[in-house]
Amino acid sequence: MTSDIIASKELKKMDPVFGQHSFDEHEQIVFCNDKDTGLKAIIGIHNTVLGPALGGTRMWQYNNEWEALNDVLRLSRGMTFKSAITGLNLGGGKAVIIGDAKTQKTPELMRRFGEFVHSLSGKYITAEDVGMATEDMDTVREVTPYVTGISESKGGAGNPSPITAYGVFMGMKAAAKFKFGSDILEGKNIFVQGIGNVGEALVEHLSNEGANITISDISQERLEEVSSKYGATIYSGNDIYNEAMDIYAPCALGATVNDETIHKLQAKIVAGAANNQLADENKHGKILRERGIVYAPDFLINAGGIINVYAELEDYGKQEIIRKTENIYNTTLEILDNAKANDVTTHLAALNIAKERIATRKRENSK
Ligand code: NAD
Repeated sequence: MTSDIIASKELKKMDPVFGQHSFDEHEQIVFCNDKDTGLKAIIGIHNTVLGPALGGTRMWQYNNEWEALNDVLRLSRGMTFKSAITGLNLGGGKAVIIGDAKTQKTPELMRRFGEFVHSLSGKYITAEDVGMATEDMDTVREVTPYVTGISESKGGAGNPSPITAYGVFMGMKAAAKFKFGSDILEGKNIFVQGIGNVGEALVEHLSNEGANITISDISQERLEEVSSKYGATIYSGNDIYNEAMDIYAPCALGATVNDETIHKLQAKIVAGAANNQLADENKHGKILRERGIVYAPDFLINAGGIINVYAELEDYGKQEIIRKTENIYNTTLEILDNAKANDVTTHLAALNIAKERIATRKRENSK
């Protein structure tokens, strides 16, 4: 996440909100402050043409408020296109709470945050993201119905990470079909960077399929646990971007495909769970294409989590969640074919389809 953030000096040159680096026609930005609980949060509502803006809340120790604002602007925009390309009737939103989730998160702070969410009367619906757990969403639920990702015991759809991982697995298989002519991942060298909630579940799918998996993480404990469970190799080198591999799966940080890494990258496919994998979606999308590296757009293949929480709003069950998530395979193949046919980057091909769906709905709404 931190590398996803533009240098604060650069940000400060811009006008504070509408001139922000990542401002892209966002509808509403809400700054939330509460002295008693220490809450400092920003809710970003990017677009509500398709429906209420749904997106998780991230709690992170940002270096400064500019970084937090930039993050919420980028993340909320991403949610708009994620829901649009997945065919959900949801808009894009996201929230960030400034602070250390391990030491500063309290039930009082979460409830106060929930009250701010409630004050938007359903225009923004929250869920969990980095630094949040299902129990935190249960706490928010005490003060507002505008929250998803609550526990299964409380009628929610529970932890979205396994479904996100399944969607990433589907998108990865589709990218393999496109690049190698077969979606069988057995024997492929796959590098999973970050083996948290999503990364570990992805490793399980890959291991069941017989892939050669290498894992990296900043937590040695996680590495040892996941390695012993699934027989994955722990990466011992010092520059993964220089390693030969078939598939690179970023499942930790955003913006790992950047000026520094892109020319070294030896993968044939990039397909992972992290949001905003391309530091600059136009520039780095183009370089990947020129280098013949197939990029499965992140906002398309990591949509399993939002499909899972959408079930709480639309009242559909596990079977439909799985069906919608499996459809990520077909959509990914369509996008990759479309990008090839139109000679554009895969990111742009996906973005264009998402934007077209929003524009069509906007026209219908104004009739
Ligand atoms: P997580 O916090 O459970 O896991 C992240 C893992 O990455 C941790 O194990 C952490 O130690 C590791 N990590 C951190 N910095 C690293 C580094 N520099 N190198 C290697 N590993 C590093 O998060 P998650 O829920 O598994 O999500 C992973 C990514 O997928 C995030 O970017 C998240 O925004 C995105 N995502 C998650 C979901 C979901 O349903 N959880 C949905 C969509 C997108």
